[in-house]
Amino acid sequence: MRLEGGCYCGQLRYVAEGEPMMKAQCHCRECQYISGGSPNMFLLMPPDGFSFTKGTPKQFARSDLEGAVTREFCAECGTHLTTAVILKVGTLDDPSLYGSPQMAIYTIDKQVFHQIPEGMPSFERLPQR
Ligand SMILES: [Zn+2]
Ligand SMILES: [Zn+2]
Repeated sequence: MRLEGGCYCGQLRYVAEGEPMMKAQCHCRECQYISGGSPNMFLLMPPDGFSFTKGTPKQFARSDLEGAVTREFCAECGTHLTTAVILKVGTLDDPSLYGSPQMAIYTIDKQVFHQIPEGMPSFERLPQR
């Protein structure tokens, strides 16, 4: 599939091509900061097919954490778009292309107001590979 998206103000645009490697909702505490409180809906896309087609994102990684991930966001409007090739569903032009998440991860940080659809596999951290 070919997915296009961008930030809220339109200064950043991206294209992601390929088959999603994972579609999930993440309940971790870090994602709660970035989502506003709810689980973070994301797609893991193959790195080869991903590129920014407009603008250059600002990058942020915490220096006080070992192995901190790099998050990319719009310097203008602040929309957080990607962490490596983890795309935030809300930044897709057509979020309905997401379908639905296949699993819930990091439920160890789940809040009482977070919903997990019935029957969806859920993991305290990440599923074992
Ligand atoms: Zn923006
Ligand atoms: Zn998370």
